Amino acid sequence: MRPGRAPGSHQAPSGAAARVLRPLLAPGVTLAVRLYRSGVRPLPSRAVRKIIHIDCDCFFAAIEMRDDPRLAGRPMAVGGAPDRRGVIATCNYEARAFGVHSAMASRQALALCPQLLIVRPRFEAYKAASRQIHAILQDYTELIEPLSLDEAYLDVSDSAHFSGSATRIAQDIRRRVREQLDITVSAGVAPNKFLAKIASDWHKPDGLCVITPPEVDAFVAALPVARLHGVGKVTAERLARLGIQRCSDLREWQRLALVREFGSFGERLWQLARGIDERPVRVERRRQTLSVEHTFDRDLPDLAACVAELPALLEQLEHRLARLDSAYRADKPLVKLKFHDFTQTTLEQAGAGRDGGSYQRLLAAAFARGGRPVRLIGVGVRLVDLREGGEQLALFE
Ligand SMILES: [Mg+2]
Repeated sequence: MRPGRAPGSHQAPSGAAARVLRPLLAPGVTLAVRLYRSGVRPLPSRAVRKIIHIDCDCFFAAIEMRDDPRLAGRPMAVGGAPDRRGVIATCNYEARAFGVHSAMASRQALALCPQLLIVRPRFEAYKAASRQIHAILQDYTELIEPLSLDEAYLDVSDSAHFSGSATRIAQDIRRRVREQLDITVSAGVAPNKFLAKIASDWHKPDGLCVITPPEVDAFVAALPVARLHGVGKVTAERLARLGIQRCSDLREWQRLALVREFGSFGERLWQLARGIDERPVRVERRRQTLSVEHTFDRDLPDLAACVAELPALLEQLEHRLARLDSAYRADKPLVKLKFHDFTQTTLEQAGAGRDGGSYQRLLAAAFARGGRPVRLIGVGVRLVDLREGGEQLALFE
């Protein structure tokens, strides 16, 4: 017998156990309360939503190949130089065929694919493309949640375009991005965020995958648990040891048994295995930090050169803080350094003041982590959201 199917596991908990378990067993209620407290508008009562997840294909690499066609048709990547401990940010599909992937050390990537061409990132070009894509998306709905420069969720449940067909909206977005930006986008259409994100990856690159409400059940049943949102390598291995490979295996487990095994994530697993994900598309992402940063034309060779740049940066930060929304309070100071090889480090200090001395100490500690020439310095503060319930929503997410 599997541990999760022990007799009595379905009995209603009482006493202290009930106090612990009841919130977990009634997620709809607690989610609604959390959303209410945080000022997010309540979920529409309508049962079915139409969510699109759009995701550009090898975005940085696609922009580079577009702007320099000599890079196309051969393995290439965007990233740091191999002799400087650089890493791959993105690579094209020709490079992926050799096993190269993002976050891999450039040196290792070259070992796998000796003919790999690695070019330096041009973030301004990527940001410009991202703005163009965002402008296209806004033609269909205002309910857009950007996840990164090249990825976003759209809630088109109430969109009047194409008689409300999310599939045709996704097709149109793909067509327009291809025509206007000359890069490809994959899209997923589904009744919720978790499935839309899986769908956009399903026929990548340059693909569209639609999971209609009647298809959800069979699609999710066959889905390997490793594809679930929040299931990383460790959890996937733990699930495998319990004999759980696919969501259909997961469905055999009772809710309480999963909570016992995985804590609050067990509740989430129970829901995802049934294709349930009620997270709304959140237009306004809560700000967690406010910072100013500067990329120097020439790398700063040592700590003294970095310290010399601090006063100007702190002055800019003060200007930004003076305009900060009253919903936030500035908290502990933080410093970010990007070294010449594009590795970066961020340090913050609880309890420290926002004076020059605190930033100088943080800068020294951050510099010591790399001990290499610096191309970018950022100074900032962590923000506390003063709106009631803000923290709870952050925890849920
Ligand atoms: Mg992408």
